[in-house]
Amino acid sequence: SENILEVSHLKKTFQIKSHDGKKGLLRAVDDVSFTIKKGETFSLVGESGCGKSTLGRTLLGLYPSDRGSKIIFNGEDITKIPKSKKKDFTKKAQLIFQDPSACLNPRRTIKQILLEPFKIHKIGNGEAKITELMDRVGLASRFLDKFPHEMSGGQKQRVGIARALALGPELIVCDEPVSALDVSIQAQIINLLKDLQKQLNLTYLFISHDLSVVHHISDRVAVMYLGKIVELTTRDDLYEKTQHPYTKALLSSIPDTSGDQREKIILTGDVPSPANPPSGCRFHTRCPAVMDICKIEAPDFIHTGDEHFVACHLCTK
Ligand code: SF4
Ligand code: MG
Repeated sequence: SENILEVSHLKKTFQIKSHDGKKGLLRAVDDVSFTIKKGETFSLVGESGCGKSTLGRTLLGLYPSDRGSKIIFNGEDITKIPKSKKKDFTKKAQLIFQDPSACLNPRRTIKQILLEPFKIHKIGNGEAKITELMDRVGLASRFLDKFPHEMSGGQKQRVGIARALALGPELIVCDEPVSALDVSIQAQIINLLKDLQKQLNLTYLFISHDLSVVHHISDRVAVMYLGKIVELTTRDDLYEKTQHPYTKALLSSIPDTSGDQREKIILTGDVPSPANPPSGCRFHTRCPAVMDICKIEAPDFIHTGDEHFVACHLCTK
């Protein structure tokens, strides 16, 4: 099917200052390429600090990408969109946060919060539209007069979703949208996201560290480690035909699809600093299958069959 997003050679570097005041560079996203199909849920998984949130925000233009990066959204390179046309892109691509409170002004009522996007974009009829939005996300209209602190975490996330839907987006980046919620509420929000996707033909980039949640919602999954995608494939192949040693280790903490416990793989060593990544394969300092070549040569990200891509020297032999 048609691609809504085509990302190639995306890089995002931050200037950082270390404790002794020395300036350095942190490449949070390092030469990442992938496409997202219209209407699918494409997930990005990895441990915290691997660059997945930065990647999501860079795709939305919230951070400028490094030179040479390409982000093609519906045929247009958004890294080259002039400021005057940015608002059109904002309407089409939205973000849902992990902590809904972060995007809900505590001094505003839900009604004021939901009317805001219509005001910013000078769209009339906001009052009627927010009634419809509340209905879509399963909140009674009596909540419109409440303040965020008067609502539960799940209810606030529904408001966050309603806000993201306000301008009729096509793509929504969901950054750990259920991680801050109780497990019982998580399923409700995931099911709501799935229903909305069907009703509104939405495309999701779903960012999460939780492989059980990712299994539930994804069509395809990319696994990130220290700023790079190390494995990318369909949901079923990722969980059943796992190829990358890092993915295997991540998956070993959850039961397999038949409910059996997988062989537990404990990774030793801390995640290295992205400001100073290891030579060769970045995972070599923690990989249970490490070989000599891994310390010297970075593995290419290669096509290993069907829709499966892997960056590991084990897959090139
Ligand atoms: Fe492990 Fe080597 Fe593969 Fe890296 S390239 S994941 S170190 S086997
Ligand atoms: Mg994050």
